Amino acid sequence: MQYQAMLRGAANRMAALGVIGGSGIYDLPELREGESIAVSTPFGEPSAPVRRGRIGQTDVFFVPRHGIGHTYSPSDLPYRANIHALKQLGVTHLLSLSAVGSLVESLPPRSLVLPEQIIDRTVGRRRTFFDDGVVAHVGIADPFCPVFRNAVREGAAAAGRAVEPRGTYVCIEGPQFSTRAESNLFRSWGATVIGMTAMPEARLAREAELCYATLAMVTDYDVWHESEEDVSVEVVIANLQANAEAASEILHAVAGAGLPARACGCSTALDNAVVTAPAAIAPPVRERIGLLLGDRLPEE
Ligand SMILES: [Zn+2]
Repeated sequence: MQYQAMLRGAANRMAALGVIGGSGIYDLPELREGESIAVSTPFGEPSAPVRRGRIGQTDVFFVPRHGIGHTYSPSDLPYRANIHALKQLGVTHLLSLSAVGSLVESLPPRSLVLPEQIIDRTVGRRRTFFDDGVVAHVGIADPFCPVFRNAVREGAAAAGRAVEPRGTYVCIEGPQFSTRAESNLFRSWGATVIGMTAMPEARLAREAELCYATLAMVTDYDVWHESEEDVSVEVVIANLQANAEAASEILHAVAGAGLPARACGCSTALDNAVVTAPAAIAPPVRERIGLLLGDRLPEE
């Protein structure tokens, strides 16, 4: 067991950065010349072909979360295929760039937040790789990787961008925004920002043993806010563009500094997580989850 852990440790030294771009981030300018890779997975096709490139010494793989032209709603997204495709390509660290609404006065539009926690209010999404014949329970008490979050925080500092290093992200099903009563309820729970995609993405990233962090970028105050003027589409789009520029600078700093060593529990999240008896896992199921479990799936 120790030896296997050591082998995995060696594999982890080949780090690569995955980036999933949310609303307003449909490509990364520095990767436009990069190879476009069509990846298929046992969980379907990802939102779009994966774009590969290099920033500094770091291999970077990019997927536009909502697809080219923004065709997937948050409920319809191929979350499992996106994570599995990135895992196949060797991604170890995954940065999610996500547009969010702010639930607190102190974080106005264009604020950047690195949430520590998530409250999952989604109701209709496939949230695990382990179903239909195999059961696993992984821990997500802390859904974001503390080491990678810290690297993103340092990247933001190096880029001269202020980020709020704490906070709780409420993930709603959408596609509609919240009611005013819901928005106030989430505020009373101590939530900081609200969005529609962090779950099940964070769950699946943990099951795929990736170090996952979200850079949440505020486009507007959520509906709780009694602002004097209504938010116009133009203002939201201008905020999305400003946030995309900030994200690009931070991404450059993070990739340029090199990815942090995986001194965290993410790369061993599946150790001892599968509760199904190996002999009871049918061959097609083994094939489906083989990439995730590797040598931890004993022969039948
Ligand atoms: Zn980690």
